[in-house]
Amino acid sequence: MTKIKAIVFDFDGTLSCRPRCAYDKYKSDVHYVFPDLKENTIEFESVVQNLLTWDQYGTINKDYVYRQLVKTYNLNEELVDVLTKRWLEDFHTFSILREGVKETLIKLRENYKVGCITNGNSQTQHSKLEYCNLKEYFDSVIVSGDLGVHKPDPRIFHESCRQLGVNPSEMVYVGDTFYADVYGAHLAGCIPVWIWNDEERHCDTDVIRIHEFIEILEAIDKIENQ
Ligand SMILES: [Mg+2]
Repeated sequence: MTKIKAIVFDFDGTLSCRPRCAYDKYKSDVHYVFPDLKENTIEFESVVQNLLTWDQYGTINKDYVYRQLVKTYNLNEELVDVLTKRWLEDFHTFSILREGVKETLIKLRENYKVGCITNGNSQTQHSKLEYCNLKEYFDSVIVSGDLGVHKPDPRIFHESCRQLGVNPSEMVYVGDTFYADVYGAHLAGCIPVWIWNDEERHCDTDVIRIHEFIEILEAIDKIENQ
């Protein structure tokens, strides 16, 4: 029997449906950069799909993404700063939560402390949580930009444990990025759960994996009864 006292979540791609948010945001970029390209044509879509490839599931600096854009399409270098600034200002308005997030958080909170640890710029990450009206669902929210320490550094997980009043071994941590979330939680002594619904992504390592957000309830049940 493993006693779990807290469930803590990553934000982008875990609580939010990041592939969808990023897709919509990059579409708006393509409209901005190529106003003559018609949406949903192969030409338009090819630029959006290029941006998504360079974006690397959101794990890379936006400066890199837009540099690739400028280089590939021979655009004005100044666009890199303009688009990066636009990203910081409005990406949060593209936030869409995964199905069942709020209902599941309410259910979890009946029995556990519930928290969030998210990597990124303070302003952007807080704006996303506020835009989704999510803050009230958590006992603790930590943005790496506020702390100056980022996942996978165990110190950010330990700060969450401290705020929630639990030991690392009593915390389940759910995230979509293997390095930052699964490896980070493992380093910190927490129990990692990997949320990843790309069936084609191969992984031979024994890690608790869920595909849909709501499956977390069943996963916790299994952890507690193993
Ligand atoms: Mg994530």
